[in-house]
Amino acid sequence: MPELPPPGPALPLPGPAEPPASATGAEVWAALGRAGHLARAYRGSVRDGVDPDGLADLLAAIDARWSVPATLSASVQLATALPVLATGGGAVVERCLHRTLHGRATLALAATDTTPGTDLTALRTEVTVEEDAVTVTGRKEWITNATTAESFLVLARHRPGRHFAHFTWILVPADTPGTTIRPTPSGLYAGAGTGHVSFDGVRLDRSHVVGRAGLGLPVFARHIAVERLAGALWGVALCRRVLADTRHRLIHRPHGEGTLWSLGHVRQRFAACLVRVQELRALTDRWASEVAQRHDLPAAAALKAAAGVTVPQVLAECAQLWGAAGFADGGIQEIRAQAALFGIGGGATEVVLDTVADSAERLLDDLGRKDVDW
Ligand SMILES: Cc1cc2nc3c(=O)[nH]c(=O)nc-3n(C[C@H](O)[C@H](O)[C@H](O)COP(=O)(O)OP(=O)(O)OC[C@H]3O[C@@H](n4cnc5c(N)ncnc54)[C@H](O)[C@@H]3O)c2cc1C
Repeated sequence: MPELPPPGPALPLPGPAEPPASATGAEVWAALGRAGHLARAYRGSVRDGVDPDGLADLLAAIDARWSVPATLSASVQLATALPVLATGGGAVVERCLHRTLHGRATLALAATDTTPGTDLTALRTEVTVEEDAVTVTGRKEWITNATTAESFLVLARHRPGRHFAHFTWILVPADTPGTTIRPTPSGLYAGAGTGHVSFDGVRLDRSHVVGRAGLGLPVFARHIAVERLAGALWGVALCRRVLADTRHRLIHRPHGEGTLWSLGHVRQRFAACLVRVQELRALTDRWASEVAQRHDLPAAAALKAAAGVTVPQVLAECAQLWGAAGFADGGIQEIRAQAALFGIGGGATEVVLDTVADSAERLLDDLGRKDVDW
């Protein structure tokens, strides 16, 4: 949709070295980091948690200027990888945090295994923890930033079985012997550096354990909640941009005595999409601080469930309204295909709906509250 520069929020740009619209996620990350923009996603430091307004502005600005894969690359690092890394300490962790936040490196969050991502406690990647060394063996699939990462934050099991205390985060530098990275066969997400990574007896000293052994899964649950918030914030920005572009197209597309925008049923379909995005925006306003500050899991699941349905629906409707022009390279049909990820990545819609159902009583009570500023 090339003809309309979208109304992105005011973000001072990286300057003359601003990457072109076709830049990869790693290039965009490096430019934003060098210019000092990445820190605005957080309340103070990464350890203080995300600032929903800062995160929303940053994601909307990236979405307005660069591709869906580039925004995914940034979103995963800002909302999940960096905050999970910040649960650890020591020189190895601090160096990686510093380099990533300043755009000198990218960091991949490697949770999804060869087993179904929707069944995380079945994951097979193992870590053997000795007195002063660890050994990682296994394989992670469909990992954002894998082909560009300086390090992988790997969720591994240190004991067999599904118990929540059997998992630990390990920071694996990408150049450690035994680590093999291959790009995924995906043109749609190549720009996000998606890849599969194998660890074949990768040996590291114990300073690469991130946080306490056994806290891997609780830490993941807390921080995937923030990734779900980020997805909803980005979903609002993406839908807003696409709706603005689509309206511009419809207003300028002659039809009969008027334009496509003058056809009543076209306007109503557009308006229905606008209402869906307003609903998603209202939901993010309702839950953003609870998720950012208290890692509220049912609230995050509700946000993810809403974004997972609204974003693909709105983009599909807009794509239809673009007609043949939507099939141009980089056009709405490509964005629509990429945006199907909103219903899968970071928690499939069905899985987060299960979480919403588990918390139905509390969420019903919340709907009856009078003191909520909707
Ligand atoms: C572009 C891209 C980037 C990604 N980046 C990362 C990353 O950076 N880090 C990372 O760790 N992972 C990443 N992933 C993996 C992603 O998190 C998983 O794809 C996701 O968790 C779903 O797992 P799966 O693909 O194995 O689907 P499966 O677990 O095989 O599930 C397939 C489908 O089965 C259905 N289903 C599953 N469970 C249920 C249920 N309980 N009830 C009803 N239906 C169900 C759903 O329709 C689901 O979509 C990425 C994936 C993609 C495509």
